[in-house]
Amino acid sequence: MVQGQPVDARRVAVALGDRSVVLVGMMGAGKTSVGKRLAAKLGLPFVDADVEIEAGAQLTIPEIFDRFGEAYFREGERKVIARLLASGPQVLAAGGGAFMNKTTRDNIARRGVSIWLKPDVEVLLARVRKKSNRPLLKTPDPEQTLRRLLAERSPVYALADITIESKDGPHEAVVDMALQRLAETLRAAAPGAADRRVVEAPLGARAYSILIGPGLIDDAGDEIAKVAPGAKCAVVTDAHVAPLYLDRLMASLDEAGLAAASIVCPPGEATKSYTEFARVSDALIEARIERRDLVIALGGGVIGDLAGFCAATLRRGVRFVQIPTTLLAQVDSSVGGKTGINSTHGKNLVGAFHQPLLVLADTDSLDTLGEREFRAGYAEVVKYGLMGDSAFFEFLEANCRDVFAGGPARAEAIATSCHAKARVVVADETEQGERALLNLGHTFGHALESLTRYDAKRLVHGEAVAIGLSLAFRFSRKLGLCSGQDAMRVEAHLRATGLPTRIQDIPRLEASPQDLLYAMRQDKKVERGRITFILARRIGESFIARDVEEARVLAFLDQEMELASN
Ligand code: NAD
Repeated sequence: MVQGQPVDARRVAVALGDRSVVLVGMMGAGKTSVGKRLAAKLGLPFVDADVEIEAGAQLTIPEIFDRFGEAYFREGERKVIARLLASGPQVLAAGGGAFMNKTTRDNIARRGVSIWLKPDVEVLLARVRKKSNRPLLKTPDPEQTLRRLLAERSPVYALADITIESKDGPHEAVVDMALQRLAETLRAAAPGAADRRVVEAPLGARAYSILIGPGLIDDAGDEIAKVAPGAKCAVVTDAHVAPLYLDRLMASLDEAGLAAASIVCPPGEATKSYTEFARVSDALIEARIERRDLVIALGGGVIGDLAGFCAATLRRGVRFVQIPTTLLAQVDSSVGGKTGINSTHGKNLVGAFHQPLLVLADTDSLDTLGEREFRAGYAEVVKYGLMGDSAFFEFLEANCRDVFAGGPARAEAIATSCHAKARVVVADETEQGERALLNLGHTFGHALESLTRYDAKRLVHGEAVAIGLSLAFRFSRKLGLCSGQDAMRVEAHLRATGLPTRIQDIPRLEASPQDLLYAMRQDKKVERGRITFILARRIGESFIARDVEEARVLAFLDQEMELASN
């Protein structure tokens, strides 16, 4: 930006989006006068936090101090500022001490751009002398008190995004300076905002958005308040995820004015059980979660499936939000509305279709995920490329290192995966046909998981899918459907990321081809005794095959498992 050129206030307002401009600084700094003028230029409302507090309490600030003390006032001030910040973009003048509170400061950092108005100290003294209603200056030597407060508070005010120093002069000059600095600051921050993506799941009355990008757990309160204002929330999570993210999510909900309870489950697949289903459902009832309230699933696919099923059945269906924290959950289980628990007869046999109200995939949360878990989720990402998008598979071949490292390529891969899943779900919400394509690699994969008795030490779901994807392509090749080159490319890419691709990669698997075929027949995708396969004509073109002869499957497995035993 060229110094001295007029700034287009409208563009600054657009760049602010739903963030507010928050003016901080000492009493007498001109926050109200500058704030009103700045708000007029930006076309935003002006709100003075002190005036809001007085209106709410029906008392003046000196009266609140006299009757209840400073601590009481500060707590009220924190809540009022949180409410104002959550209510949309505005220019907000915060009281002189408000920015000293860390929670308020963090909240302002998330939802606004802060400007410290720092007039010359003599100007400040002159202005304050004229007003006698400042409770903190009711001391024998107000000037001395003001200097002391200034010395104490200045290091904290300096944490504001922008500092504007001014001599005594027209407020207009300060407003112009504020606009100029705002424009510069917002331009510098823009690339970060561009990291966030939105994928829509246009399911009519059940439509929802999937937000993908960094920092979404901290912004969850805001995002949830937009779709469910005033809802009471219950967060369901597991004991691995709770210490990492629960406090941050609860703080974000609180700041957005949403009351929330939390329920922590044991981690692991065993949590998708009748016992946990009953325990969590009762806890939701105890938390008085009603039809218009919200269940929030914070965790991997296990928590998403369990919490979603509790939400589907509680009071015949309450709304729920998915905050997936594993790669598998972000690209697969959080989208599409399949919820459920396991029976002793098999996985996911008890469940319901229940679409979420919103999905918030915080890509930062994947940084704490173990490498093996991340890699397992990556198999599902690859699946979307193989299933119907060869360009995406090429993108993954070229960028898989960056996807594993984090940053824009990761968000891009997650967004493309969610988009692919949402497209299939929209075409076939309850899996009557096309949705079965999402099972590419899963018929073999599920059978292998069952043969290892779901022993995660030997094989986790994503690894089984990776082997299943390789088998699906090799089987397609054997049936003369796709080229050997494509089958080799699939295997090479999965191997390059450290995923297994062959049955012999599974430690201590003692099973015959017949055992594997039997396990495939037990899968729920069996219709009238025929196993449904998802096969491929090439990378990016898969199809549903319902009439594959079992003899051909067995011959293929014989060959694969012979390789395994050699
Ligand atoms: P998971 O939920 O068990 O999570 C894996 C492990 O990672 C757990 O120990 C968990 O506590 C931990 N964890 C989660 N987030 C973390 C984080 N950010 N940092 C550190 N640790 C973290 O497993 P998953 O792989 O996410 O999901 C598997 C489940 O998903 C299975 O039950 C499967 O049936 C289900 N699933 C459902 C669908 C669907 O459409 N509903 C689709 C695919 C899979």
